[in-house]
Amino acid sequence: MQSEYVLSTPHLHDLPKNERPHIAFIGRSNVGKSSLINSLTQRKDLARTSAAPGRTQTINLYSIDRSYYLVDLPGYGYAKTSRDQREVFAEMIENYLLETPQLRLAFLIVDARIGPTDLDQNMLAFLQLHQIPFVMIVNKMDKLKRTEAQKLLHTLEEHFSGMPIIPHSNVADGNRAKILRTLQDALAD
Ligand code: GDP
Repeated sequence: MQSEYVLSTPHLHDLPKNERPHIAFIGRSNVGKSSLINSLTQRKDLARTSAAPGRTQTINLYSIDRSYYLVDLPGYGYAKTSRDQREVFAEMIENYLLETPQLRLAFLIVDARIGPTDLDQNMLAFLQLHQIPFVMIVNKMDKLKRTEAQKLLHTLEEHFSGMPIIPHSNVADGNRAKILRTLQDALAD
C-alpha cells in the first residue's frame, strides 16, 4: 500500500474535487484514529499521534495508492475545548458527512475502556439517520482483560444487534486485516 499525506484543513472547500472514493475515520479525541491510520498504512508517522488530546482539530487527508483517500475527521468531545469550539467541530464533521458524495464508508471508533459515549451514540444516530454506511471499531482492546473484553463485546452485540463491530488494538494483536477487508469491500461496492 502506497500512502501519502495530502493536506489538513478546517474547510470543506479545500478538499480535492476529484471523484476518488473517501473512507472516513470518526471518533473522540485520543481514541486512536491517527494510530489506526498509521497501522493500516504500516507507516509509523503518516498521521500524527499524540498523547495530548484535542490537537487533531482539522480534516486530515491521506492518499492511498493514488486511488482513494483516508479521511481523518476532527476528534470530538475533548473536555478542554470550549463549547463553541465543540459545536464548530461537530458541524465540520456533520457537513463533511452530508456533503461528500465520494464517501463510501465511515469507521466510527470507540474506546474499549469507555464503551460508546453519549457523543459516540449521537454520531451513530446521525450516521443511521442519513444512511451513511459505517462500521464500529472498538479500539484499545489490549487494555481489557479477557473476561472484560468478552463481556463488552457481548453487551455491544446485544445493544447494537446487527451492526458491524470490529474489536481492535493498535498495539497488540488487532484486526488490521479485517478492517482492510471491510475497507476494500466498501471501495468495491
Ligand atoms: P487520536 O487523537 O484519535 O488520533 O488518537 P492517537 O492515535 O493520537 O492515540 C491517542 C493515544 O492512545 C496515544 O498515546 C496512542 O499511543 C494510544 N493508542 C492508540 N491506539 C491504541 C491501542 O489500540 N491500545 C493502546 N493501549 N493505546 C493506543
